[in-house]
Amino acid sequence: MPMLHGFAGRTAPLRRIFPSIFINLRPTGFDGNDRVTSSVKRTCGDCTLCCKVMAIEALAKPASAWCRHCKPGCGCAIYADRPAECENFACLWLVNDLLDEQWKPSRSKLVLTTSENGIEIRCDPGSPNAWRKEPYAGEIRAWAAEGERDAMTVVVIAGQRMILVTPDLEFDLGLVGPDERIVRELEGTKVVGATVVKAGEIRRG
Ligand code: SF4
Ligand code: SF4
Repeated sequence: MPMLHGFAGRTAPLRRIFPSIFINLRPTGFDGNDRVTSSVKRTCGDCTLCCKVMAIEALAKPASAWCRHCKPGCGCAIYADRPAECENFACLWLVNDLLDEQWKPSRSKLVLTTSENGIEIRCDPGSPNAWRKEPYAGEIRAWAAEGERDAMTVVVIAGQRMILVTPDLEFDLGLVGPDERIVRELEGTKVVGATVVKAGEIRRG
């Protein structure tokens, strides 16, 4: 299973707070992330799924819609001039050889990235339940179990709908806006509840 990174827990009594679940595209190689290994040099090949699922600010491209420059299954029509966001992006499968070929996004229909607090799993909007299939569902639950021990979070994103996954439960949070945050209710390390609140309503401590 892949090692995850950046899971600094932000704790308040009975709660941990996600500071940001809307990640920015991350630099290839995940600078500063010494827990991601990449001994296998992978290439995207026929995969173009991130050009569909990710939002690209520089192009005002929303998530879950093909980029107008993408030739699905082939590549980018403006490759030499693509925005830095695109140039710098690498999904976890591309850089982490602990994710095997089954996790290649064009095959799994899932694009994995890290967030400040955990791992995010974006479904191809044409396959919103891809994460429920095996072997993916089992591995995702295993990451959730690992995450629960280490204050990491596992979030599935299908369109703009977010689902917080725990070892035993899933919390369907619906649409979570950029000005909103997910607050987890904890009993010990076990997540027993999750709610969405406005960022300004969060009281720390
Ligand atoms: S989702 Fe990953 S493998 Fe697919 S094109 Fe994007 S970076 Fe490459
Ligand atoms: S500009 Fe190119 S690399 Fe960037 S999202 Fe569009 S098709 Fe993909």
